[in-house]
Amino acid sequence: MTSRDISLVRAEIDASALRANAAALAEAVSPARLKCVVKADAYGHGVDLVAPTLHAAGLREFCVATVPEALALRDLLGADAEIMAWLYGPGSDLEAALRADIALGVSTPGALDRVAAAARATGIRARVHLKIDSGLGRNGLAPEDIPAVLTTLRACAEEDAPPFVVSGIMSHFAVADEPERPETAQQQEVFDSARRELTELLESAGGRLGEASDLDVHIANSPAALTLRPVPGNSARVGLALYGLSPLADAEPGDLGLTPVMRLVSEVVNLKHIPVGHGASYGLTYTAEADTRFALVPGGYGDGVPRSASNRAEVSIRGQRFPIVGRIAMDQFIVDVGDAEVAIGDEVVLFGPGGPSAAEWGDWAETINYEIVTRLSARVDRVLIDADPADPGDRAPADPTSTEAR
Ligand SMILES: *Cc1c(COP(=O)(O)O)cnc(C)c1O
Repeated sequence: MTSRDISLVRAEIDASALRANAAALAEAVSPARLKCVVKADAYGHGVDLVAPTLHAAGLREFCVATVPEALALRDLLGADAEIMAWLYGPGSDLEAALRADIALGVSTPGALDRVAAAARATGIRARVHLKIDSGLGRNGLAPEDIPAVLTTLRACAEEDAPPFVVSGIMSHFAVADEPERPETAQQQEVFDSARRELTELLESAGGRLGEASDLDVHIANSPAALTLRPVPGNSARVGLALYGLSPLADAEPGDLGLTPVMRLVSEVVNLKHIPVGHGASYGLTYTAEADTRFALVPGGYGDGVPRSASNRAEVSIRGQRFPIVGRIAMDQFIVDVGDAEVAIGDEVVLFGPGGPSAAEWGDWAETINYEIVTRLSARVDRVLIDADPADPGDRAPADPTSTEAR
């Protein structure tokens, strides 16, 4: 029985699965290092549960998108973690980022100037990773931006106290989840030529902007980390796979040695007989074709359960699949359970172990598993389930309680 101070729809976060995925991925990308991507509230899993669990398991490198995410993560993890962020604009507080020892991706010549200004204002030497647009067309330095950036770097190398160390160079793949496509190799070539130019510059600056041999080179995301051998670069930024989900259309998590970390559950709160011809939910888009029973389940688009999956999605109750009928509403949906043995209070698995997968929900909602987990709202409590909280080794002292909710 769950206590009533936990939300009706809740996401159980399996700490053991998370640790096992991280260990499997660290081994898969080796000798490259694993960078754990915990942006967007750890893909909806709860960064305050996920990041400390990974940190306690010995992981030290973390990535987020934005500066506010990075500052929150610093508060969560303390000084002993490498944190980087790459998405910010002219109004972002880069001085706060430097004070919190956040490494910054740099995607425009103007951003490099702003990082330098923040470094001068704070007296803190910035750690920057040049972000190269090698073909995605999203963020990153375009080929035409690179000469300006190299000029700025050369000028900075002449200063008495250069405002930054160039600690890394990075890029991001567009189609690494489709291994047969040629663009991934083309992106690696573009990236590699930028890396060579930067390496030459660092060498000619004689270490004043950082040692070329220390340069952190990273381009792989989850699909690249799972499909490219060897994994390019000396670290890989892995998000989705860490959470035990597959970024590849033709592979299940188990095929990749991964276990889904999130189990989204709710419970039956009403159960009633429904005569043939009776409708279901707003718009009455579903009509019972025979006498049946409807089970009512808390969980709607206010929780992040996608309304577009109405009349398509399925859930599991007592190990059996049942269809969601009628429109998914803001707070609740209806399941047609027929004459199956179902009772009020029964657990309902929306997705995760023992139920459908996040990828199936992605199909039903015409989106992808990434969005299904990330879109869960603040109304859904994330509950850490840790079968092995006192796992010994070089780990931080374990929390004596085995579950923790937020
Ligand atoms: C989100 C993101 C990642 C992680 O991608 P996954 O496919 O979830 O592993 C890596 N790098 C950048 C720049 C990202 O935005």
